[in-house]
Amino acid sequence: MIRTHQLAYSYAAGATLRFEDTDVPQGGVLLLRGASGSGKSTWLALAAGLLAATSGDITVSSQPLKALGKVAGDAWRAQTIGFLPQKLHLSAALSVHDNLAMAQWAAGHAQDESRIAEALAALDVQALASRKPSQLSGGQAQRVALARAVLLKPKVILADEPTASLDDDSAAASLALLRATALREGATLVIATHDARVKTFFSDEKGINTMEIGGLSL
Ligand code: ADP
Ligand code: MG
Repeated sequence: MIRTHQLAYSYAAGATLRFEDTDVPQGGVLLLRGASGSGKSTWLALAAGLLAATSGDITVSSQPLKALGKVAGDAWRAQTIGFLPQKLHLSAALSVHDNLAMAQWAAGHAQDESRIAEALAALDVQALASRKPSQLSGGQAQRVALARAVLLKPKVILADEPTASLDDDSAAASLALLRATALREGATLVIATHDARVKTFFSDEKGINTMEIGGLSL
């Protein structure tokens, strides 16, 4: 679940981004819509506890983020948040398998081969385990990044512009994969997007939460 109340954030030199209140149940979907520069990535960073709200409150998976310090926040994030960034940030020097192993080490977990195999199989990329990221298509790389995002069984999946630069078929496939993955994991899914196709994709599904982000206000 994710609940916000009068959430706002100001970058040091900038005006204040104010976000509409939202209340998304566990396992629900939130579409975060708005023009480029409206604050979608900032909202995701607030939900991931990477930025601290300037004012207002945000509770993610029953945890009020205000109460988390830096060290506790890092551990909480590793347990709770699966992030699919706009730029996938796969390590170029590492194989697909080792990219996932590194995510386990970085979270302070022991390497767990059976979970790595399970996550790769769930995203249908197990055959690519020994490849380097440069040897993957865009769609394959996104599947690998999503396998890495769900590796630690997050409660929340945050996807930043997952359909940017994808053609219609690939965009639909990417969204279907995100939805199926979130459903399988029981995770709340947040998709930040300025792509009108995303709303259309979810138009037949009931209970989708949508937030339109308006941009800067003084
Ligand atoms: P979106 O993801 O919707 O394109 P962002 O959340 O990235 O929007 O940015 C929202 C606003 O905050 C923009 O005006 C952007 O220029 C500004 N911004 C983003 N990151 C920073 C930063 N690190 N320092 C100052 N301003 C920033
Ligand atoms: Mg953005």
